[in-house]
Amino acid sequence: ICLQTILVGDSGVGKTSLLVQFDQGKFIAGSFTSTVGIGFTVMFAYHVSVCFVTQIWDTAGQERFRSVTHAYYRDAQALLLLYDITSKPSFDNIRAWLTEIHEHAQKDVVIMLLGNKSDMAAERVVKTEDGEKLAKEYGVPFMETSAKTGVNVDLAFQAIGKELKHRA
Ligand code: GDP
Ligand code: MG
Repeated sequence: ICLQTILVGDSGVGKTSLLVQFDQGKFIAGSFTSTVGIGFTVMFAYHVSVCFVTQIWDTAGQERFRSVTHAYYRDAQALLLLYDITSKPSFDNIRAWLTEIHEHAQKDVVIMLLGNKSDMAAERVVKTEDGEKLAKEYGVPFMETSAKTGVNVDLAFQAIGKELKHRA
């Protein structure tokens, strides 16, 4: 049995990089092709006997593709919601993402909030405690990750796996 997982968040927050880090244990610098329209990547990764089928998409704010993406929320068991600690807009948009998730995802979906790019301390604009506060408000777990150094990447997926196993 595989866990259907979706990575969401603004373009550029590091969704693809995080998945590559989780899947292959490495960081490939530079932007991945930002998909035009609804592009998606599906990756399989096994971790502590849990298989994750992870999807990512970048709609690049193209509303006409929204109805398509909404269908994917329905099958998701877990959602990793990412922002970039060096981007205030990506953090501010988390509320909008959560609204969309609550509208379209299953009620019992496991959500985890991740503040990515924690290695970029000098450029940080979103405080750790702001991430914590927001997560608490929505009752979701929170972690800061770095797709570059790998900090907390495995832990984030592990936490999701544990939570879902626990429920099964
Ligand atoms: P996506 O659009 O959300 O899939 O974001 P990408 O994975 O394409 O990453 C966008 C940019 O941020 C790329 O240049 C990545 O190399 C960079 N990036 C992603 N994650 C990290 C991270 O944790 N630390 C640093 N320093 N750069 C990152
Ligand atoms: Mg991407």
